[in-house]
Amino acid sequence: MTPVDGWKLGETVFSEERIAARVGELAAAISTDYADHELTVISILKGSYIFLADLTRALTIPVRVDFLGLSSYIGAESSGQFEWNARMTTSIRDRHVLLIEDIADTGRTLLHVIDHLAEHGPASIRVCAFLDKPGRRVVDIPVDYVGFQIPDRFVVGYGLDYEGWFRQLPHISTLERV
Ligand code: 5GP
Ligand code: MG
Repeated sequence: MTPVDGWKLGETVFSEERIAARVGELAAAISTDYADHELTVISILKGSYIFLADLTRALTIPVRVDFLGLSSYIGAESSGQFEWNARMTTSIRDRHVLLIEDIADTGRTLLHVIDHLAEHGPASIRVCAFLDKPGRRVVDIPVDYVGFQIPDRFVVGYGLDYEGWFRQLPHISTLERV
């Protein structure tokens, strides 16, 4: 791929095939755990959009999808400051909610969203993160479903960006200086 802003793709961390297999496993586990229930899936924009599309299409339970947008991430540094830029339009009162996030890093984003959702009286809240960097956690949050755990490396693809770029990659890759 053509370099962007002085960055090119490094090594492939998870291939498209490996991702597809893992997403299938997650969808099967979630469908089993919520069998006989209806599920409200809340996707945290923008990084989770590809994971959301693949995961929800593999679920076998009734599902509603809604979105929350918040930005916190300036370049490659988590700021801990949040700004809402998209709100849910679905009521989650007495609903089982599954939050979908691209990656759990420090955990601040998920904590902020969980606290926000809890104010709306859901029956339950669980978290599904495509990637998890447990070594980076600074706040304690439950991540109930994890696609893959990774060490502390900045990765892109499958929805994850560098300043808006590289989200469309079908695999997860590191970045390298050109
Ligand atoms: P947290 O609030 O957990 O520190 O940060 C979560 C957010 O940081 C993710 O939703 C994602 O936007 C961003 N982030 C954390 N690590 C990475 C990474 O390795 N690559 C990319 N592209 N974004 C990351
Ligand atoms: Mg994000």
